Amino acid sequence: MLVLVLNCGSSSVKMRLVDTATGAWLARGLVDRIGEPEPGTRSVERPGQPARKTGVQAADHSVALRLLLEELPEASRAAAVGHRVVHGGERYTGSVRITPEVLRELEPLSRLAPLHNPPNLVGIRIAQQHWPDLPQVAAFDTAFHSTLPDYAYRYAVPEAWYRDLGVRRYGFHGLSHRYVAERATARLGRDNLRLVSLHLGNGCSAAAVRGRTCLDTSMGMTPLEGLVMGTRSGDLDASVPLLVQAELGLLSAEVDRILNRDSGLEALAGTLDMRDIQAELSTSAGAKLAFELFCYRVRKYVGAYASVLGGLDALAFTAGIGENSSVVRDEICRGLESLGVRLDEAANGENRGDERDVAHPSAPVRVLVIPADEELVIARETEAVLAA
Ligand code: ADP
Repeated sequence: MLVLVLNCGSSSVKMRLVDTATGAWLARGLVDRIGEPEPGTRSVERPGQPARKTGVQAADHSVALRLLLEELPEASRAAAVGHRVVHGGERYTGSVRITPEVLRELEPLSRLAPLHNPPNLVGIRIAQQHWPDLPQVAAFDTAFHSTLPDYAYRYAVPEAWYRDLGVRRYGFHGLSHRYVAERATARLGRDNLRLVSLHLGNGCSAAAVRGRTCLDTSMGMTPLEGLVMGTRSGDLDASVPLLVQAELGLLSAEVDRILNRDSGLEALAGTLDMRDIQAELSTSAGAKLAFELFCYRVRKYVGAYASVLGGLDALAFTAGIGENSSVVRDEICRGLESLGVRLDEAANGENRGDERDVAHPSAPVRVLVIPADEELVIARETEAVLAA
């Protein structure tokens, strides 16, 4: 089945035409800086050809979609549209065909993901107007984590906060962790694999997965919790924002913005780009601290999740940093020897874009590098929902 996968962010639209029979993508495109005064970029690409980039000005998401379809007319061959929706709350534990009722139920979830869900819903509405006859499916980033036991997803705070406000851990990056778990299971040919999946991009999260079931994950009620990220602090004593808010006289929205946009690697190193940080490791104390703190936090989670899983069979790295930075992988794995983790230096050092095992051949724990492919998961989910 040809599925058009749409991922609408607050200021960008990403589109990919996927053939679920082969798993290959046939065309993909992106328009950014939507609604911003500065012109943005339209980038379109077909396999084996260089990406074609042009300057564009998209006033809204509808214009952005039209700009993409102008360049990628083959998108009209799609038999269905699959949407990435960040938050499915407690209600959506799997993908779902979008009906007027589903749309109504998704609306209030925007409260839990104010930056992400509203643009996702805008994308659904535009696609419905554009392709009124095509079935549309929503795949959720939270759904993979719906198997967390209550002692992993609940916070130790008053029950009424959970009951009335939905205060609990939901977890994110689920489409990515799910793809990693499926690939690792298939590749290693083990059904009950004890896997720690590490999605290290601008956003970062870890997941403890047994077989295909997620037991714990590092992001919480929002994507702020857990690992250190490009601009997010990750784990933090909950008293810190309260103290800072009182002492600096800030509004809660300002503290929220600082913890999400001005913290993480950016705060420590002055850049959120891991490539720059690596280049400055020997010359900048901030870069060195950012690098060490980032890797230390990941290592701590791997240790914790190995005990959640009762042992470790495989560690998997995905997303921009996880796939491309042999230095980060090396630093994280250093110190995990007691768990059976040992890298093959030559294999880890190779810079290749494909899926591979970079563990030492004699090590008991496999270390996999798995290029992220959330779009393929969304396309396959779309096909499966429509077939059911
Ligand atoms: P997003 O979460 O926005 O999808 P990506 O998965 O593209 O982000 O990851 C972006 C991160 O990947 C950035 O920190 C970038 O520096 C890092 N990255 C990309 N290529 C490399 C590389 N060769 N070495 C180290 N880090 C890299």
